[in-house]
Amino acid sequence: MSRSSQKKLLAQAKKYEHVNRGRDERTHLLSGIVKCPVCGAGMYGNKSIKRKKDGTKYKDFYYYGCKHRTMTRGHKCDYKRQIREELLDDAVAEVIVKLVSNPRFADVMQQKINRKMDTSAIEQEITNYEKQIWQSYFVKAKIMEEVDFLDPEDRHYIQRKADLDNRLYRMYDKIEETENLLIEARAKKTAIEAEKITGDNIYKVLIYFDRLYKVMNDVEKR
Ligand SMILES: [Zn+2]
Repeated sequence: MSRSSQKKLLAQAKKYEHVNRGRDERTHLLSGIVKCPVCGAGMYGNKSIKRKKDGTKYKDFYYYGCKHRTMTRGHKCDYKRQIREELLDDAVAEVIVKLVSNPRFADVMQQKINRKMDTSAIEQEITNYEKQIWQSYFVKAKIMEEVDFLDPEDRHYIQRKADLDNRLYRMYDKIEETENLLIEARAKKTAIEAEKITGDNIYKVLIYFDRLYKVMNDVEKR
């Protein structure tokens, strides 16, 4: 993978992720992603600044903690443990590296993306609508031709004209209906294609995770 395509991928990945930064401007990689084991709320990155008895500072300590915001049956969450950020971040990265370096993982991911992103069904649908619309216009032209050839002297003229008019109106409705379906189907196809691009990029980031992770900064890692 070239450096420029690495950069492109990372820029795209960033667009899909709002980065959670603390007031300390440090990016907490798993902030909001880690869930509290007691209340299930997202745990957020914090910085702990402690002073020793002699007044000097301990080394800054970053941790994930539950903010106890979720009230369960009237009680606030009491999970007080502070989980060291580096330990958890490294453990999670290690698990992902192991997962993505398994050749089966690449296969399964690729299959999932391909299955979800298959556009052949929607393309068939679009073709069918286009064909239906073309046929409807043809029928409409035929009916109008029949109206033109009606003989006003015919003793059933009024009835025949009314019948043809009804058929004509039904054809207008049908064309409008099918055109709406066609617009919908085209929009759906565009959405699938856009998702496919995202899916492909997520896949690539995962496949190259090991290599990319080493060159990412904290914002990108998140
Ligand atoms: Zn909690």
